[in-house]
Amino acid sequence: MAHDHLLSSDDIMALARTSSAVARPCACRIDSFREWTRVPADFPQAQLRPAGTLVHDPYAEPTYAEYHPDGTSYWSPDAPIALRHFPYNRCTVQQCGVCQRACLTYVEAGGYYVEPRIRALDPRLIVDVAVDD
Ligand SMILES: [Zn+2]
Repeated sequence: MAHDHLLSSDDIMALARTSSAVARPCACRIDSFREWTRVPADFPQAQLRPAGTLVHDPYAEPTYAEYHPDGTSYWSPDAPIALRHFPYNRCTVQQCGVCQRACLTYVEAGGYYVEPRIRALDPRLIVDVAVDD
């Protein structure tokens, strides 16, 4: 699949279920990135394959609204993976070609830095709810 292939919520759930069923250790350590984490310097990027994107319209700025109905925060390991909300609406989904685990990645851009971030794709946390304007 192409890097810019828009994943449906069914696609994402299938990737997440495959990922969560993997038990063997792997150099990618995707299973250890339960919350948003700076991509480690030794991350084996060459092992990963893009599965697709969550960006619906590359020409529109997606919302910065976050979704935390249960009091989680951006950094919580149990924060919902709300596909239409920030930062998931900017993410690429990548799958490790060695172990088949899947992760979300995007680049957080602050005033003075850019930081690539990674989070494991956990099927228990995925929600596809509309954004309230
Ligand atoms: Zn792996």
